[in-house]
Parts: sequence; C-alpha cells; structure tokens
Amino acid sequence: MEKLKSSCLSCRNCQLREGARQVVFGVGNPSSRVMLVGEGPGEQEDIQGEPFVGRSGQLLDKYLELIDLDRKENVYIANIVKCRPPQNRDPKPEEQDICIKWLREQVRIIRPEIIVCLGRIAAQRLISPDFRVTAQHGQFIEKGGILFMGTFHPSALLRNPANNPAALSDFQALRTKMQELGLNG
Ligand code: SF4
Repeated sequence: MEKLKSSCLSCRNCQLREGARQVVFGVGNPSSRVMLVGEGPGEQEDIQGEPFVGRSGQLLDKYLELIDLDRKENVYIANIVKCRPPQNRDPKPEEQDICIKWLREQVRIIRPEIIVCLGRIAAQRLISPDFRVTAQHGQFIEKGGILFMGTFHPSALLRNPANNPAALSDFQALRTKMQELGLNG
C-alpha cells in the first residue's frame, strides 16, 4: 500500500490535480475488513491531506465510534477521485474513469468483505448507475464477492439532519452484518 500511495501522490493523470493542493490518497488500516468510499476531497481534506476531516469527518467518526470502528484501527477510508474538484463540484464521469484505477488497486490490496459507499456519487459508481440513496440506503448488495452498501454522505447529513436516524440505522446494519460474517472490526 505504501508503494501505491507514493505513486498516487505524484499522479497528474487528470486536470483535477491542477486545482488541488495535494492528492488525498486514503487513511486507515490496510488490513481492515471494511472500506468506506466517498466521492472526493473537499476543502479541509485538500488542506489536511486526509479523507473526511472537518465537520463531515467528525460526524462520520461519531457514527464509526458507535459501532466500534475507528479510522486509525479497523477501517479504511478513501474516495473515488483523489484530488479536490473545483468549488466542491461533483467529479465528472471522465475524471472518475481516470482516477478510479487507484481505488481499484486499494481494493485489490485490502480485499475488504464490505464496502460502504458514502453518498450518491460513490454508490452510483460502485453499486449501480441508477442507485438512489434515499430509497436504497442500508441495503447490502453482493458484487464480485464483496458486499456493498450505500448510505448518506456526511455532508448531506449536515445539510439535512432529518436523515440522521436513517444513517444511524445503516451503520447499525453494518455492525450486524459484520457480526454475521464473523468480522471483529
Ligand atoms: S484526481 Fe486522481 S487521476 Fe486525477 S490527478 Fe488526482 S490522483 Fe490523479
């Protein structure tokens, strides 16, 4: 993973790198059985070089803590694109197409049992192009030997706290699924 990270940090394969301070590779334990994947770095992530920091990251950490997961110990967090899109716009499909090779390599190395997609962009990219978070969140779908589940992006929860109970129930479902699979977390 360290070799992959060092290649990724010098990537300039798409235009997103020009507007970003740095490449945000990922964070966590590469031996984790669970990965979380978001769409791309925001302002704080671009500054600090780590996915999901700032207010949305604090909210994510709170949900993880509730189910005994911790980004420093037993989960791995990454994004579909590793450089911040200008003004936090959605990453374009062609940018995702170029950058996703890094995520594929991360998944190949980690070999997670479960991947949780945080928000629409990640879920539509990794689960199904017509995935609808509000209708399909919390459902586990098996693809290629990995269980995928989509839930709300923490930034969306900050904008619309009414979805917090649904997000909490998704994280509890994740915990239950981990227990069913005998994953210690
Ligand atoms: S977004 Fe991805 S492909 Fe584009 S420069 Fe950054 S790391 Fe490379």
